[in-house]
Amino acid sequence: MQGAILDWYAAVRRDLPWRRTRDPYAILVSEVMLQQTQVARVVGRYEAWLERWPSAAALARATPAAVLREWVGLGYNRRALWLREACAIVARDGWPQTAAELVRLPGVGPYTAAAVASFAFGEQVAAVDTNVRRVAARLGRGEPAELLPAGRAGDFNQALMELGATVCRARAAACAECPAAGWCASRDMVAAPPRAGARKRERFEDSNRWVRGRIVSALAAGQGMPAGIAPERLEPALAGLVRDGLVRRTAAGLSLG
Ligand code: SF4
Repeated sequence: MQGAILDWYAAVRRDLPWRRTRDPYAILVSEVMLQQTQVARVVGRYEAWLERWPSAAALARATPAAVLREWVGLGYNRRALWLREACAIVARDGWPQTAAELVRLPGVGPYTAAAVASFAFGEQVAAVDTNVRRVAARLGRGEPAELLPAGRAGDFNQALMELGATVCRARAAACAECPAAGWCASRDMVAAPPRAGARKRERFEDSNRWVRGRIVSALAAGQGMPAGIAPERLEPALAGLVRDGLVRRTAAGLSLG
């Protein structure tokens, strides 16, 4: 089964810039960007980021305000500051080589730590995101870590993620196209759930996160507070940004970082 999944992945894998490198810094940048933003939008931003800050040491020397400005539009600004803080630690102490050590860096959770450890350092560790968890559960052949083929953890992690994102999807499993169908306990048994009762999704524009993003974008552009948003929405969002250390209130006004 593992061989069939790896062969399938080799045939369908998209040629993305972070898949052409084993540089842990470049991989960490891509993983953090991909947490909130779609692949197609990340590619250009990732390349611009690496051109500006090609190494962990370079990013560690950047100011928080510069990092936040470069991050505008990539969601959850705190992640950009954590990335910079993580790089400051790496610049001082060197790269942690295992997922168990990487997870101690600011903003690096178990999934990201395992992704960097397996893609960059070849560690035999499963990178378990929601797609991988779902595919492994449907296969019914053990935990993701038990499925890893020897010496191919990085490729296999990528393959399972791709399988979950494109074939064995949450609502619809395309079992006829699946390389693991011959070994799968759930083949042709995944029914699409009824959609009628599905909870209506909150519009992004109604969320606090959207207001926070607008404030950061406006400050990054030197425009002060954004226009057209009610004060009762602006104030709590601004208070949250100040509390999180993303925006500073000074006598001269508001500034990033
Ligand atoms: S056979 Fe179907 S349910 Fe099983 S892993 Fe493949 S797509 Fe998913």
